[in-house]
Amino acid sequence: MSHYSDAENSVSSLNEVLGTSDVQLRKRRVWDPDTESIASEIKDLLEDDDVNSLVEEDCIGCPLPSTPEDENVLETEMSDVLKAAVLGDELDITTLAHNAAGQAEQVVRRLIQVSWNVCHFNKLPDWLQDNDFLTYGHRPPLPSFRACFKSIFRLHTETANIWTHLLGCVAFIGMAAFFLCCSGSVIDFQEKLVFGAFFLGAIVCLGFSCVFHTVNCHSPVIASLFSKLDYCGISFLIMGSFVPWVYYGFYCNFNKKVIYLSAVSVLGFLSIMVSLWDKFSEPAWRTFRAGVFMTFGLSGIAPAIHYGVTEGWTNDMSLKNLGLLLLMGVLYIVGAVMYALRIPERFCPGKFDIWLHSHQIFHVFVLGAAFVHYHGISEMAMHQLSVGKCDMPFTPINL
Ligand SMILES: [Zn+2]
Repeated sequence: MSHYSDAENSVSSLNEVLGTSDVQLRKRRVWDPDTESIASEIKDLLEDDDVNSLVEEDCIGCPLPSTPEDENVLETEMSDVLKAAVLGDELDITTLAHNAAGQAEQVVRRLIQVSWNVCHFNKLPDWLQDNDFLTYGHRPPLPSFRACFKSIFRLHTETANIWTHLLGCVAFIGMAAFFLCCSGSVIDFQEKLVFGAFFLGAIVCLGFSCVFHTVNCHSPVIASLFSKLDYCGISFLIMGSFVPWVYYGFYCNFNKKVIYLSAVSVLGFLSIMVSLWDKFSEPAWRTFRAGVFMTFGLSGIAPAIHYGVTEGWTNDMSLKNLGLLLLMGVLYIVGAVMYALRIPERFCPGKFDIWLHSHQIFHVFVLGAAFVHYHGISEMAMHQLSVGKCDMPFTPINL
């Protein structure tokens, strides 16, 4: 017999003694573990006006006002309910704990997404500590891509890094679309392909860079993956820049084109392999990183000297082509040196946290170099158009 039946019998006896039927047991809906979850039971109790009024009246916070007052009976009933829930698979402690942890994590994520503040370098986790000369204004780890992309519109150490290459990427996409679609029959398919290689290199480099700087605060795994893509993008830009220069520089010598483009492909492949190395993105390897890309870029000196020797150093075309190539090289090298040495922030730590730190300057110089190169290869293409096609485009090797 249950405790509830005992209580009912006691009330009946009391009514018989008093000769009345006024005394009644507070009725409570019997909880059925087969059809209801313990959560719904608790919800019902919380919504029960009767219960709420009792709580208000008592003001002592009795959790279950309709339960018998005898604590032993209460404990027995509760343990019966819990046992039934567990046995009936209604209450899986592991699942409940897991759900609770999941909900807590979601709440924390939402809170961080809604409101986060830039922080000091020392507050960053190890995987986000890159440049200790930027003391304040860092994004904390943001646990979702949505939060990372929303951070584009906030001011922090990465804001200008993101926007410089985002705007550059959009500009090159527009230029590529215009060049490849609107130039019509003036430029043939092969030359569109050659320019396409440069546009692709620039768009991939700037696009990967922009995405890396946007999501690098997401998690160590994402930061590592996108930093590798960022460095691979630089290799693609250098390779893509070589293609049109070598194509127009040695327009009528197929073999030279093949040799230089093969050499660029091998160097590009090697630099991509190095970029995929885990340690390559670590702060301690900053100078080595800059060195790898500078060496790759400076390998362009070989075809440039070859061009000067073949075409002459002092004619207008050589001066223009080599001059623009030199300007591009200087921009890349100056940017890379500032990046490697972290100039200017190393002289005034904390003064360049948001604007004009070395990485931004490096980005601007990369962008400037890419535009200079586009101007240079456009000039070379225009010159070739005015000169006309080669009589013997596939001349034998003649180094
Ligand atoms: Zn960057």
